[in-house]
Amino acid sequence: MFDDRYTLAYKRYPYKKSPDQDAAEAVRHPVVVMGGGPVGIAIAIDLGLQGIPTLVLDDHEGVGMGSRAICFAKRCLEVADRYGCGEPMLDKGVVWNLGKVFHKDDKVFEFNLLPEEGHKYPAFINLQQPYYESFQLDRFEELQAQGAPIEIRGKNRVDGVVVRDDHVVLDVMTPDGPYEIEADWVIGCDGASSPLRGMLDMDFSGKVFQDSFLIADIKMKGDVEFPTERWFWFEPSHGEGASTLLHKQPDDVWRVDFQIGWDVDRKEELKEENIRRRLDAFLGNGVEYDMVWSSIYTFQCKRMDTFRNGRVIFAGDAAHQVSPFGARGANSGMQDVDNLGWKLGLVINGTADDSLLDTYNFERIHGADENIMNSTRSTDFITPKSEISRVFRDAVLSLAGSYEFARPLVNSGRLSVPCTYDGSPLNGPDDLGGPERTRPGSPCPDAELADGFLLSQLGNDFVLLCINADGPDSLEESGISTRTLKLTEADDPKGYVKERYLGDAKSAVYLIRPDQHVAARHAAFDEKTIRADIRRAIGKE
Ligand SMILES: Cc1cc2nc3c(=O)[nH]c(=O)nc-3n(C[C@H](O)[C@H](O)[C@H](O)COP(=O)(O)OP(=O)(O)OC[C@H]3O[C@@H](n4cnc5c(N)ncnc54)[C@H](O)[C@@H]3O)c2cc1C
Repeated sequence: MFDDRYTLAYKRYPYKKSPDQDAAEAVRHPVVVMGGGPVGIAIAIDLGLQGIPTLVLDDHEGVGMGSRAICFAKRCLEVADRYGCGEPMLDKGVVWNLGKVFHKDDKVFEFNLLPEEGHKYPAFINLQQPYYESFQLDRFEELQAQGAPIEIRGKNRVDGVVVRDDHVVLDVMTPDGPYEIEADWVIGCDGASSPLRGMLDMDFSGKVFQDSFLIADIKMKGDVEFPTERWFWFEPSHGEGASTLLHKQPDDVWRVDFQIGWDVDRKEELKEENIRRRLDAFLGNGVEYDMVWSSIYTFQCKRMDTFRNGRVIFAGDAAHQVSPFGARGANSGMQDVDNLGWKLGLVINGTADDSLLDTYNFERIHGADENIMNSTRSTDFITPKSEISRVFRDAVLSLAGSYEFARPLVNSGRLSVPCTYDGSPLNGPDDLGGPERTRPGSPCPDAELADGFLLSQLGNDFVLLCINADGPDSLEESGISTRTLKLTEADDPKGYVKERYLGDAKSAVYLIRPDQHVAARHAAFDEKTIRADIRRAIGKE
């Protein structure tokens, strides 16, 4: 099913014996990442771009095949863009905006994600996760070739961990037997069932949802076409199941996701003839297709009590898990990495104290809780757990076709957006009173400029964004080199910067963090104030 340009060879990092395995004493590495899924590879790229030696250990030898994530959100793509792999994802992905919701045979309503103008990336693309991971690995290899100190070792399974005050010891199993390595820092990106979490006996609490979903990824034959839209049926009258989702992926592959209930015989359900029976009832007789992939998944909404255990830090599914409704898994894992990368970099190079990493815990737990809340609400709506919830759900669905007020209550999966770190100790003052969406803690919205896009110009540094305002070309404070980006009306011919960053204000000075979240904002530059903002943004005020 994969075209020549993006052939996905499974063994992207086949096992090779490392000199560490024959060393007389355990070799110490600055950072070891456990798990080479989308989150583990992303943190290695982030640290590699900062020149920090990072070793990834994975128990497999390449990208995870099979069908998992397909919806990748704007913010995730913007982060990937900064890592240098966003564009091939966008080129390959299917862009979509329109969603339709049906109850039985009736269309209840449709929604448009209404993409704002003036952004480099769309609200969402659909892209098979193996492609996503493969583009990340292309970039990983490119950085290695350019001399970035990053390495990935396939068939290196971590079986044991001991956390000491100033380092961590890992037991690793390979086809040549076990070896031991040490790390100053370990990042646990080992997925939802995280062996590392278990080895450290850390709590992972929340809700398990008693339902199962059957995924069938199919490639249509002949001229049958559905529009590039997200179609969701509650209680579909075609065939069995409590809900069905249909969504297009690249290569003319369609994701069909049937809600099939908790008490099912998985082996029976996964037989091809049974999957085809469901698909034929859904698609109608005579529609021909090839089956590309099928699986059954269940899910839980859970998170760790803390994402940090001394020198071990957790990210992605290992730290938190949500239902797939709303596409928050990989998307929020990328936001973990985005938050962690610059902070760990500053701690490792001695610019910040390791207490800065506690703000990773604070900010990303805030993000995880928001995601879990949204995901749980969608799940409760899609699979009502009590008779009263079902009566409410059905009433909303029957009213939504005719009454506008009922439509916002229909919840077939509110789609992932990045969270604002309200209340973070790193946030400085808001002396501007500008647009709500760019208050301190917010992720910066993109804006098309006369010459490119704002987010591309912000890059991975601390930036002083001076809009119609004076400011120094650069500023050194507490080991942080802050770059200045000055914009005037001439740089903003379409008015996006004015709309998103100024509002009614005439001028503004924003301090932007390396993860492109707003640290503080003011109406004008004042050196003493900005220096204090920088210190606060790295946990030194
Ligand atoms: C059906 C389905 C649909 C989904 N749809 C979406 C979606 O549309 N959008 C979205 O954003 N998310 C979606 N998700 C969630 C998404 O797939 C996950 O959030 C994402 O894969 C998490 O990435 P990760 O790197 O944290 O973990 P994983 O992808 O699970 O990677 C963990 C890695 O750790 C390795 N590992 C495990 N144990 C060890 C060990 N002992 N030693 C060494 N390595 C180890 C594993 O081999 C693996 O490579 C979906 C999930 C499912 C199941």
